[in-house]
Parts: sequence; C-alpha cells; structure tokens
Amino acid sequence: MKSSHIESMLAKVQKLCEQRAVRLTPQRQLVLRLMAEQKSAISAYDLLDLLRISEPQAKPPTVYRALDFLLEQGFIHKIESTNSYVVCHHVGEPLHTSALFICDNCGLVTEYHAEGIDQQLKALADTSGFTIQHSVLETHGTCANCIAK
Ligand SMILES: [Zn+2]
Ligand SMILES: [Zn+2]
Repeated sequence: MKSSHIESMLAKVQKLCEQRAVRLTPQRQLVLRLMAEQKSAISAYDLLDLLRISEPQAKPPTVYRALDFLLEQGFIHKIESTNSYVVCHHVGEPLHTSALFICDNCGLVTEYHAEGIDQQLKALADTSGFTIQHSVLETHGTCANCIAK
C-alpha cells in the first residue's frame, strides 16, 4: 500500500473502532500498519520479527491477539492456504466475500469484492437456513507482472 493509502486506511479504522466502541491499542494499530506496508501477505512470525524492531519484548501471543482482533473487526483477512494475513482492501464495508488472487511466484495478493459470488453464496446458504459470517475465496495462479517477465 502507498503511504498515503496507509494513512487514510488507518484513519478509517480508527473511526470505525470508535463507532464500534472497541479499543484500537497502539500495538494493534502498529501491527495493522506493518501489514499495510507489505507488498503481499505476511505470516504471523514475519510480523513478529517486524514488530520486534520497535517492541523487542513482543512475543507470539502479542501478535496473535492483535491479529485476532483485526480479523474479528474485518480489517484483515486470513489466507488459510498459505497461513498468512493481508489487510482488507474494503475496510469499513459490510461483511463481504473477498476473492483473493494469490500469485504463487511473487506472493502478490490482490483482493476483489466478489459481488456476484456473494449473492450466489447467500442463495446457497439460504436454502439450508445457514447464516454466513464471513467467507474468503482463495485463488492461486500467476500475476500479470510475473507472466510478463
Ligand atoms: Zn476484504
Ligand atoms: Zn507475481
């Protein structure tokens, strides 16, 4: 994310936390900022290494607690297939199905709001009375940049 984008994303998150009356501690905010500075998704352990640069006493539970909070609030998504995390590109939008396109070559993760798919999933869920909390579609392949090389 570009630094101007990071600042506006963080401001939006700050405002949402106030509206929801949840606490965005400086540490949670720092974790989110570090994630936003990445070009692609990041694992909890890589995140811990980055966090330790400014907070040497940080431990794995520190990172996991921050990640849990950010996931719960919908500010980030977990990529199960690579066990890593990425900042949501639609922060503040209601629960959405995010389609994540993951480049297996460079690790780039692009998020799209999968609107048509949202409706299909909802229709499917409705047939069995299932209530969707959140869903993430993970699609692997090669990004345009890598193909061009
Ligand atoms: Zn998202
Ligand atoms: Zn790529």
